[in-house]
Parts: sequence; structure tokens; C-alpha cells
Amino acid sequence: MKQLLVATRNRGKIAEINALLAGLVDRIFSAADFADFPETVEDGTTFEENALKKAREAACFSGLPSLADDSGLVVDELGGRPGVYSARFAGDGANDAANNARLLEECRGIPAERRQAAFVCVLAFVTPEGSERTFSGRVGGRILEHARGTGGFGYDPLFQVDGSDRTMAELELEQKNCVSHRAQAFRLFREYLESEITRIAGPEEQHHVGK
Ligand code: IMP
Repeated sequence: MKQLLVATRNRGKIAEINALLAGLVDRIFSAADFADFPETVEDGTTFEENALKKAREAACFSGLPSLADDSGLVVDELGGRPGVYSARFAGDGANDAANNARLLEECRGIPAERRQAAFVCVLAFVTPEGSERTFSGRVGGRILEHARGTGGFGYDPLFQVDGSDRTMAELELEQKNCVSHRAQAFRLFREYLESEITRIAGPEEQHHVGK
């Protein structure tokens, strides 16, 4: 595929997405490449609604096949919060540090065995012609009492990955991109794109697949 727009300004996500789509797309644009990229109001109640809304607006604005993800942290003991409010758990415009502090505060007193959580990602792919698909991924873990690690972004330092003694922030980018919720959704997207590329982009682009 020649061009794809990824509808995010989040530098952490852009780095992960570039690695996850390596070899599949010639040129990846992000929202940061456009001065007047529209700010989608994320008012959906599910990750899927928000991802589709972002991808539709991006495809309409740019005329490019567009990909948007909506992702977040779901903590069982908090009734699924912060969920779709993950980016603004500590208030509109909150940064990662403030959101992590709020998470620690809300989880205070919850015993280790009840601190299960998951990162969830829904990826929406929308073409200017109106084709729409979604793909989802999930990774389980638990919320720690203290941050560990300096990699990744968001809640990574507080999230110990199931089956590992490390937090997401203690993993190398390549390791995170093997196990993460986003990686799983992207694997499904890659499979879809590899099988559908002819129909979406035209036969002349077939040779770009799996380069
Ligand atoms: P979105 O940009 O609306 O999808 O919001 C995603 C928010 O969920 C981010 O701002 C982070 O707080 C959190 N989040 C999503 N994915 C990750 C991840 O891979 N690691 C840590 N936090 C994440």
C-alpha cells in the first residue's frame, strides 16, 4: 500500500505504529503532518465508536485510507475504568504523570490479587470510498503500587504484564510490540490488508505487499 494516514498525534503511538507496519506501507502520515488536522471529539462510550469516528473524520479530511486506534486501560476492580477516559482520567488535558497518580490513588488499598487489568485497543480502518473495518486486541496484567521502568508511555510503568515479571515500561519497544494490545490489533489489520490490498488499492500495488 502506498500511503496511509494514522490519525494520532501521540508520539509514543506513532513510534509503535511505524514499527508495527514496517514493510507494509510506503509512506505513513500522521495527524502531526497536517497543520489543520481536525480534532475529533471522542464522545463514544466504547473504544470501537471512538476509533471509527476518528478514522472516518481523518479519511474525509485527507482523502487517504485512514487508521485510528482508540485504546485504554480497563481495571476490573474499578468497574472497567478508566476505559475510554484513559487519556483524561485526571481531567481534560491531563498528562501521563497526573493520570498515573490518579490510578495509584484509586487503586490504593486494593490487594494484589484483585488488581487485574487489561490494555485494550480497537483499530478502525476507513477508506475514502467508505469501506470500514475494526480489529481489536487485549493484553492482561495487573496494576502495581509503584511505577517501574522508563519505556513506553501512558500507564506502562504501573502495568505488569501477565506471565512476566516486567512492567510494559521495562520492555524494549520490540518486546512491547510482540505482546501489546495494539500489536495484536495491528497483526489482524496486517493480515486483512495483505489479503485485501488488491481490492482496496488496485492491482498495480500488489508488489508492495510483504516487501
Ligand atoms: P487514546 O489516545 O484516546 O486512544 O487514549 C489512549 C490512552 O490510554 C493513553 O493516553 C494512555 O493513557 C492509555 N494507553 C493506551 N495504550 C497504552 C499503552 O500501550 N501503554 C500505556 N498507556 C496506554
